[in-house]
Amino acid sequence: MRIKLMAANWKMYKTPDQTRDFFRDFLPLVSGHTRDEIVVCPPFLDLSAALEAAQGSKVAIGAQNVHWKEEGAFTGETSTIMLLAYGVTHVIIGHSERRQYFGETDDTVNLRLKTALEAGLTPICCVGEVLEEREAGSTDDVLRRQCTRAFHAISAKKAARLVIAYEPVWAIGTGKTATPEIAAEAHAVIRNEAGRAFGEDFAEKLRILYGGSVKPDNSSALMAQEEIDGALVGGASLDPKSFAAIVKY
Ligand code: PEP
Repeated sequence: MRIKLMAANWKMYKTPDQTRDFFRDFLPLVSGHTRDEIVVCPPFLDLSAALEAAQGSKVAIGAQNVHWKEEGAFTGETSTIMLLAYGVTHVIIGHSERRQYFGETDDTVNLRLKTALEAGLTPICCVGEVLEEREAGSTDDVLRRQCTRAFHAISAKKAARLVIAYEPVWAIGTGKTATPEIAAEAHAVIRNEAGRAFGEDFAEKLRILYGGSVKPDNSSALMAQEEIDGALVGGASLDPKSFAAIVKY
């Protein structure tokens, strides 16, 4: 039995004041909700406000990226040491927007993943095909390649905290959601790849989230799939009522 992880990716939205407002309204809505794990990943500058606001609640706080070096001359970057010192427990790695706009590659995803796991953070590693790849029938190959490269030179022991998010790029921010069946098929490919890399026991326990236009009205159909172990939610996580409804599907 895998406990579902319901994760919010706020992308580049909200100020610290807006972050405090969100938690003021969100926490009472989920205070009695113990079935699933909840994590909110705000922009770096909102982490402090989020951590303070979520203190004493069951809501964990994650970052949206992390560098693979502990420190150094890397202007604009943030390290695992800094995140841990803040009290951050999760980190999104390899989001398609970083792959699309900021030169993220399978190799840098692997470096970030290794570092996050070694530091004891819970990485939410994103994989997913673009529309042309789906239409060309190469979704499974793309997912296998992204997983193989992301998992390169990581042991099953080190990978224990790993979480994967399957995010078909054509479904992110577009309002087009993968059907529960499409998502479940992709999750099975990812789980199979995790089995090859880390062994069957590991793969059985691995949580694979679905992301891409998850909303309050499609959350329960997606979460009903045995293969789907939670959600990574962008746009609909910005509103406390909407994210609470998704979490409580
Ligand atoms: C995301 O940013 O990871 C995401 C899935 O966005 P949206 O829910 O807005 O499609």
